[in-house]
Amino acid sequence: MGFSAPSGVDAASVLETLKQGHQRFLEGHSIHPHSSLARLTEVAAAQHPIAAVLGCADSRIPVELLFDTGLGDLFVVRSAGNTAFTAAIGSLEFAVDHLGVGLIIVLGHARCGAVKAAFDFSSHLSPCLAQVVGQVRMQLLSEQLLNDSTNEPDVVLDRACRANALLSGQNLVNSSVLLTDHVRQGNLRVETGYYNLDTGEIDWLGAVDA
Ligand SMILES: [Zn+2]
Repeated sequence: MGFSAPSGVDAASVLETLKQGHQRFLEGHSIHPHSSLARLTEVAAAQHPIAAVLGCADSRIPVELLFDTGLGDLFVVRSAGNTAFTAAIGSLEFAVDHLGVGLIIVLGHARCGAVKAAFDFSSHLSPCLAQVVGQVRMQLLSEQLLNDSTNEPDVVLDRACRANALLSGQNLVNSSVLLTDHVRQGNLRVETGYYNLDTGEIDWLGAVDA
């Protein structure tokens, strides 16, 4: 499987390992590694995940499954709209600073409900949910992605979903001195992607600069 310990880890090779797992998933050839009771016992004492993921809470995007990974492989934070709030930022700082993770993937997806909600200024949301949607809305407003009247609504939403992954990644790094320092020092790579709900494919959108 080529899973390696995180110390001195090469983010490029970890990303390649995850892309290979994702390819197996796409082809229907997942091997479900590291899912045995022996693995459970092995990682019980300490965790050494090879990467961290900030994904959406959407039930159709189970991160471990789509990268064909198992117990102890991925440090996963999920929130509606893959939003980088304090809890998510702090959790990912822990992964980088204490677990030695050198790769964070920020994964958005097609027809994301949080992104869709950002377009609807008339909806009444509970206070906490309004914060989540408000953050997505602010990110999209900053890129003027909410007022595109020249394209079809589906196209506008899809563009916003892709942008939201990139903007969440940028927001994550910009909100954390620790993560910014690690990116600048070359110890951390933050990659962004867009998950296609219909095909299971991931469009890789690029790395985040610090
Ligand atoms: Zn979503």
